[in-house]
Formats: sequence, C-alpha cells, structure tokens
Amino acid sequence: MFAITVKRVGGSEVLEWKKIQTPEPAEGQLLIDIVAAGVNYLEIYHRSGIYEKELPFVPGGEGAGIVRDVGPGVTKFSVGDLVASVDLSGSYAEQAVVDAKRAVSIPEGLSGELAAATLLQGMTAHYLCHDAYALQANDLCLIHAGAGGVGRILIQMAKQIGATVFTTVSTKEKAALAHTAGADHIINYVKDDFTQAIEQVVGKRALAAVYDGVGAATFDKGLTLLRPTGTMVLFGQSSGVVPPFDLGRLATEGSLYITRPTLTSFIANEKALERRFNDVLTLMQEGHIDIQIGHRYRLKDARQAHEDLESRRTTGKLVLIP
Ligand code: NDP
Repeated sequence: MFAITVKRVGGSEVLEWKKIQTPEPAEGQLLIDIVAAGVNYLEIYHRSGIYEKELPFVPGGEGAGIVRDVGPGVTKFSVGDLVASVDLSGSYAEQAVVDAKRAVSIPEGLSGELAAATLLQGMTAHYLCHDAYALQANDLCLIHAGAGGVGRILIQMAKQIGATVFTTVSTKEKAALAHTAGADHIINYVKDDFTQAIEQVVGKRALAAVYDGVGAATFDKGLTLLRPTGTMVLFGQSSGVVPPFDLGRLATEGSLYITRPTLTSFIANEKALERRFNDVLTLMQEGHIDIQIGHRYRLKDARQAHEDLESRRTTGKLVLIP
C-alpha cells in the first residue's frame, strides 16, 4: 500500500509518499481501507517534533473506512462495515489497523468523508463545552479561531447551550464563516485588539470561560478577560506553546481556574467513546451543528494540507482522500 511517511522531524518536506508494507490486524483489531483521513493540528505537532513520536512513523490518527479484514476475537464488526476512529494510528495511508474497541459504526446517511471530518473535532468541541468547562445558558465566552475546525463546531455547540459567544478570526472571509456558525461578536484580531473589543461590549473581566486553542499568542490576554472564578480552557497551541506559568497569577487575577485538557481523557473507554460520538451525531441530526469540510486533498498531497493549515489559509475541516 501507499502511505505518507516521516523518518525525521521537521517542516512539511519531511512528509514522504511511499510504498510500504500493509499492516496485519492482530487480535481484536480491524484492517481498514481508508475512505478519508482527517487532518488535525496534532499531526503537525508530531511531524515538527513539538510532541515526540517514535521514528519512522505514518502520521494520522483520525479516519473512516471500510473494514477489509478482522483479527481473531473481533465480534463487534464484520468485513464491509463502514467505521471511523480517532485512534486509527497511521491514517495517512491507504490502509491502517485499529483496535475494534476504539472504532465506531458510521450510521446510514453519514458518509465516510463526513464521519472523518466530524469525529475528532466534533467530540473535542463537545467535551470542551460540556465537561472541561460546562457552559451555562447566558454565560459569556470567548472561542478563538472561530472559522477553524474545532472553533466553528464549538461556536455552534455553545450557541445551542444558550451562551453568548465572542470569537476571533484573521480575515473577512473567516468572519463570514464564524457568522454562519452563530457567533454573536466576531473580532478580526488583525485589525482590532480582541481584549479591547470585548471590553467595549461587556466591560472588564466579564467572561465565564475562554476556549483557547491558539496558545502563546493569546493566552495572557485571555486571562485578563475572565470574571472572578472564570475558567481558562487551554486546549492547543497553533501559535506556539504557552511558556511556564506562575500559578500565583490565578489568585491575583480573581481566583481563576485553568485546565489543559485533551480528548483522550474524555473518551477513555468504549462506553465514553460511543456516548460522546452519539451525542455529536444527535446534535448533527437535530440540525444544531453543521460540519464544514473546508478542504479536500489527495492523500499524496498531505504536505500541501499541512502547509495550508500552518499558514492559516484553511477554514473548517481538512480531509485527505486516498
Ligand atoms: P484550526 O482549523 O483552528 O486551525 C488553526 C487556526 O488557528 C488557524 O486557522 C488560525 O485561525 C488560528 N491561528 C492563530 N494564530 C496562528 C498561528 N500563529 N499559526 C497557525 N494558526 C494560527 O485547527 P484545528 O481545528 O485542527 O485545531 C485547533 C486547535 O485545537 C489546535 O491547537 C489543536 O491542537 C487543538 N486541538 C486540541 C484537542 C484537545 O483535545 N486538546 C483536540 C483537537 C484539536 P485565524 O486565521 O482565524 O487566526
């Protein structure tokens, strides 16, 4: 089979399209013909070495596809089933293996491509606003990168809960997309300072929560917007890692809470995974969220997908099609 491979960390040039051995499903595993692989910032952190991963590797973790073969002991799925997973290690490939317990069935009416586009970012947005900080109706919150994959879904979920949503974007086109997601106040941070823009509307220290996947560039300013006992949910670092932080600041800035969550903890077992996936599906079926596939790339063009994501050229979800 063909796959994208990484044998040393670095820029997008380390992503190589190569023929490699097709993996075999071990006990409890499925071999999947990938229909679509989701592109996530995580793969950029792995590729560039921000997060360590043993070399060489095939990038990717999210994908959907058709079961081609099952290992011994698998009873949950059969050959021909359409499944998706966020634990599909090496999903930037024509085929990949996954533990059957970490896969979910894709219901009729949902394409593999849309499932691959929904699973990771949809479940992330879901745990962020329901668990990491459980938003309440009438809460004021800030969601950075409102036209991005996670950001646009998170805005829709926050609106469904009844919160008032501020969001940041870098272009007019992205502002339009955040608007279609239902954001109440959209700030183009290239033109306007986002803290001043928010304070002009709601005054100083008014937000119940800040959802920050941007990191280094936005973290400090976000803290200054929180109300006493407000919560900073730092869930990523697309602009760079937040430097070490003096916990004393949480006291002086108003007994703030801070959390640095990751999806893995919120789908730790089969039951939690299925429950959260079903909750996201229900929100889609009831029309509360629509998922925007912003960009489709051929699998062998994964390099381009990474370059576009890193240089802020993308909106919504990116998928790779073998
Ligand atoms: P996005 O589609 O949101 O892309 C990143 C966006 O961040 C850009 O489009 C850009 O939007 C904004 N941005 C601001 N500054 C920069 C910068 N210096 N370089 C690049 N982008 C910048 O990506 P995803 O939806 O895939 O992921 C969003 C974040 O969520 C990432 O940090 C990711 O790691 C994190 N994540 C965390 C998870 C968790 O469980 N903790 C799970 C999944 C994702 P704009 O141009 O509008 O500023």
